[in-house]
Amino acid sequence: MNTIGHWINGSYARVGPRTAPVTNPATGKVTAEVALAGVEDGNAAVAAAKAAFPAWRDTSLTRRTQILFAFRELLNARKGELAAIITSEHGKVLDDALGEVSRGQEVVEFACGMPHLVKGSYTENASTKVDIHSVRQALGPVAIISPFNFPAMVPMWFFPLAIAAGNTVVLKPSEKVPTAANWMAELWKEAGLPDGVFNVLQGDKVAVDTLLTHPDVKAVSFVGSTPIAKYVYETATAHGKRVQALGGAKNHMIVLPDADLDLAADAAINAGFGSAGERCMAISALLAVGGIADELVAKIADRARALRTGDGLRGCDMGPLVTSAHRDKVAGFVDAGEESGATLVVDGRTIDADAEGEGFFVGPTLFDHVTTNMSIYQEEIFGPVLSVLRVNSFDEALATINANPYGNGTALFTNDGGAARRFQNEVEVGMVGINVPVPVPMAYYSFGGWKNSLFGDTHAHGSEGVAFFTRGKAVTTRWVDPSHGGINLGFPQNA
Ligand code: NAD
Repeated sequence: MNTIGHWINGSYARVGPRTAPVTNPATGKVTAEVALAGVEDGNAAVAAAKAAFPAWRDTSLTRRTQILFAFRELLNARKGELAAIITSEHGKVLDDALGEVSRGQEVVEFACGMPHLVKGSYTENASTKVDIHSVRQALGPVAIISPFNFPAMVPMWFFPLAIAAGNTVVLKPSEKVPTAANWMAELWKEAGLPDGVFNVLQGDKVAVDTLLTHPDVKAVSFVGSTPIAKYVYETATAHGKRVQALGGAKNHMIVLPDADLDLAADAAINAGFGSAGERCMAISALLAVGGIADELVAKIADRARALRTGDGLRGCDMGPLVTSAHRDKVAGFVDAGEESGATLVVDGRTIDADAEGEGFFVGPTLFDHVTTNMSIYQEEIFGPVLSVLRVNSFDEALATINANPYGNGTALFTNDGGAARRFQNEVEVGMVGINVPVPVPMAYYSFGGWKNSLFGDTHAHGSEGVAFFTRGKAVTTRWVDPSHGGINLGFPQNA
């Protein structure tokens, strides 16, 4: 059986005794095993990143961005390979996997502009014959810890900027989808990146804890569920690191009575069932305002029943869930929703999926008459389960969103500009869509939620990403001339 190992200092490293199976979720078959790092493997990865840092930091911006451009060209030419890897380990349909790679590529393209992004400023004669300038410098080795649901895009939210800014990286991908990270590591090598600048540490909690506590790791970018994000934030900050830890979500979509209900129904399907609901920006709660719910639910149900669920390589609309345990968890939520009195309009538990073998499928599932005390509303299900809540007013809908502990993404569907303006101003959520169901910001804006959806101060990519992976320095300069003022113990004042 193929063993997926660690990529350290430009080649595959030894694999220790601990491994875990890797599964194709569409067939249920074990396709490989992945190494689970021990502490010594983690230390080796950090040591490689530390050793590579001084030379990489001092490599000219011109040379660094040439390598970024080369990586972009290779990725663009070969992204089909990466998409196929994602589909085989995650299960999302091939088009969706390609879309994920393209969104990651946009961050690589943004990072190609690093010479402009790290430009400092210069002030002549700030005081008499004294000049001041600012620079932004790399931090050192940084750790990136990513979730299963975006094996390529989420790491690419971070590593292009980290590397372009002069840092070195240890990426710890999800053990459920380990191959994409190694594929990208090999691509970096082909693009000319020096050994040790980009390393991949495969593993589980042991690998994560090694990175969070290692004295040579200067910063941690984490994406995953809220409890682990909170743990990562608390542990790594306690060890003196800069941390951005993006957590889970419960994203709401409001549909006002004046909205185009066909547009809203299409959007609910796309955002509720795309990637089988395994997106942190998936819509899982739809707030139908006023008397539109019967008509809207009927439109969504018709569309949901028409979706084809099956193997992502067979041109289906929706693929499987990532593991059998996750499939059982999602089905358990559907059981709980029924028991709590919600109306099950479309039941995905008994789906005839277009696939060979024993894949982990749950079909599109739609609940109506959901209330905020039900577990299907309160918990992040992370599956193809859309809940419709009926509310009486815009104010009630807005208050529901703002009372929710998560604040990742949200969307409003309306033709009323005044309502839209109030919504974007008052909603306590980090990423807002107006008639856009999955408002993932472009690479030159920053991605991140509020409240329990993000721990730390900076969001991913955009200017906040550049700030995260660099630290500022202000340099005050005086070249001594005959007019220097002699001894003065007072606090420096400008004149
Ligand atoms: P997860 O929290 O289980 O795992 C994320 C990472 O943490 C993985 O690399 C995993 O190996 C590691 N990990 C797991 N348990 C750990 C532990 N006890 N100690 C230390 N490390 C541990 O998340 P997942 O199931 O892989 O991904 C789905 C979650 O990620 C969902 O909650 C989703 O909303 C969230 N997510 C959020 C965003 C965002 O931008 N906010 C984006 C994608 C996914």
